[in-house]
Parts: sequence; C-alpha cells; structure tokens
Amino acid sequence: MSAPLAAGSTIGIIGGGQLGRMLAMAAARFGYRVTILEPQPDCPAAQVANRHIAAAYDDPDALAELAGGCDVVTYEFENVPVAAAEALARSVPVYPPPKALEVAQDRLAEKRFLGGNGVPVVRYGAVDSDERLAHVLAELGGEGVLKTRRMGYDGKGQRVFRKGEAGDLAGTYAAMGGVPLIIEEFVSFKREISVIGVRAIDGTSITYDPAENVHRDGILRTSTVPARISQATSIAAQEYATVVMHRLGYVGVLGIEYFIAADGSLIANEIAPRVHNSGHWTEAACAVSQFEHHIRAIAGLPLVTTRRHSDCVMENLIGDDVARLPDIAAEDGAVIHLYGKAESRPGRKMGHVTRLRDIRAG
Ligand code: AMP
Repeated sequence: MSAPLAAGSTIGIIGGGQLGRMLAMAAARFGYRVTILEPQPDCPAAQVANRHIAAAYDDPDALAELAGGCDVVTYEFENVPVAAAEALARSVPVYPPPKALEVAQDRLAEKRFLGGNGVPVVRYGAVDSDERLAHVLAELGGEGVLKTRRMGYDGKGQRVFRKGEAGDLAGTYAAMGGVPLIIEEFVSFKREISVIGVRAIDGTSITYDPAENVHRDGILRTSTVPARISQATSIAAQEYATVVMHRLGYVGVLGIEYFIAADGSLIANEIAPRVHNSGHWTEAACAVSQFEHHIRAIAGLPLVTTRRHSDCVMENLIGDDVARLPDIAAEDGAVIHLYGKAESRPGRKMGHVTRLRDIRAG
C-alpha cells in the first residue's frame, strides 16, 4: 500500500452540503486541509473548510484549480458529472472511482450492475414511451413505481401505480419530462434497511451493522440500529455491499439500501457512492464514524472496527423540526448535529439527532 496522506495535505470535496461538511470535519481531525468545490455561496461545507472554490462542478478552470491544489479529490453527491470526475482523475487520485458514479447515476445501469453481480433486485423495465409503459406495467401485474433514470433523489421524479389505478396512460411519458424512465415492480415491503460499507485502497473492506430506515414523503426520517432483521439477513445485506464495492474497485464509503419483502427476502433498491444519511448514527454510536472511515480510506489510512457501543435512533431534523432544538438539547444521550443552514424550508434537511439508548443522567 502506498504511504498514507501526510498531515497538512489537502483533500478536495466536490459538493458543499452537509455530507461535505461532516467529511471536512472528519478530515480536520486528521490534520488535513480541505477545499470545497460548490457553486452556492456560504454552503454548509465551506463554513468548516479551508478554501471554497465557488464555481460549477463542471467548470474547467475550477476543476484545474481543484486538481492543482489537492492531493486527493472525493465527492459528497452522486450526480457529479462523470466527465468532470474522469478529467480530474487524469491528474489527481479521485475516490470513489468515477465508474461508481456512472453506475449510481442511472437507475437502469444500477439495476443491471446489481443483478449482474448476483445482488437481488426488483423486476423492472426501461420506459421510453407511453406504449412501452403500458406493456411493462402489464407485465408487472398492473402495479409499479415509475422513476426517472437520472437525477432522482429523495423520491423526486417518481410516480406510483397501484392495481387498477393506471387508467389511461396517454401523456404519462411526456408528463415525466420525456426523459428516459424505468418502471419497477411495486414492493409491499415489511421494512427498509441500509448498509454502510467502506473499502480501502488495498482492497480490504468492512461494513457497519444494518440500519432500519423509515421514509416519509420520500425523505429519510429515522434510522434505527439494530434493525429488526434476522442475523442471516444482516449478514447477507453486508455481504452484498462487500461484493458491490469489490466489483467497482471501490475506495471510500458506499451506502446500499434494501427492501425487506413480505416473505423476508432482501431486495437491493439503490446504491450511493458516498457517505449516506442512514449512516449518520455511526458518528454517535461508534468509535469511528462513516465520515472518518471515508477520510481514512481515501487517505490510505487503515480501516478499523465498525463496532457499535450503543443501540440508537437517528432522527433527521427536517424543516421546522429544528424549532424543537431547545427540548432536544435538554435530553440526555441526544447527540446533535446541525448543518449551518441559515433558512429552514419544508423538506430541507437542517440537521439530525442520534439518541443513544441506555445513556442516563450521571
Ligand atoms: P428511491 O428514490 O428509489 O430511494 O425511492 C424512495 C422511496 O420510495 C424508497 O425508500 C421507498 O420507500 C419508495 N420506493 C421506491 N421504489 C419502490 C418500489 N419499487 N416499491 C415500493 N416502494 C418503493
């Protein structure tokens, strides 16, 4: 393995949101400097970084500046333009590898990749017209979730069809933007879980315990650990994450989300080539968080234990939820993390709190 990144080296992060902020804070604890590439002024990550290049993610001058001023570059969201990541990778190490972006940016490529590597996925079909939609929906038994292949997140760009509801589909394709779509079988899942995995430059990998996730309006609300799943399911979910990381030649943290179907079987929904909201609990309940592990991986430092010292529930503070802060701050065992966003808006992630179980007033 090559020498680890020396203290004082600079890590570039593409994207300036809360994930970039938490990565920058973890990097600072190892004595690294951080440069953020993000068009938004006063973004959450730039508030805690050494330098902010305020430019578009695909601005050639900004990318050259980032490559010239950093020892390694990473990213905090999966819609980084692949061409920009590839251009950067010609002059500076970029982790996770741009190939992971390519797979994660297109739901069809992602399903094919997962299925092709033995990871169970829902039945699905590509949709590029109303006729095709009608055909695949019928094949799926009249129920499905129609999604844009690209740029969808937090349930955006989705439409659900329940049995007998489809009706006249004329105009649906145009109403979804006339962009490439995928329709997936509707899964009546018992619960949703996710696994956070980490892979080092030398190919060693580790995974955290699965979290049980609750979404509302497509946005993650809570992650509870341990998840209410069997040990066999927990092991399988972690093994699939390891397979995915290995097949991608991955370096860094990866999140993978699953449905637990009514019969208990595991179905992978999507992968995120970055630190993940459902892994925020690791910051409070583990000695080494997903953020520190991502920095360790991309800096060539060893990965260590993912063991959890407490059971916990992570709650996202969304929109006006932050108004509850004085009460939450009075709770014992509530580990609070706010993102420095000036304005709260409905649906906007403002922070999170992880409640550690069995922590009492001392
Ligand atoms: P996604 O953008 O794929 O993460 O979907 C957001 C949320 O929508 C998921 O966490 C599920 O709660 C729900 N969902 C997505 N796909 C399906 C599906 N095929 N069947 C049932 N629910 C789904």
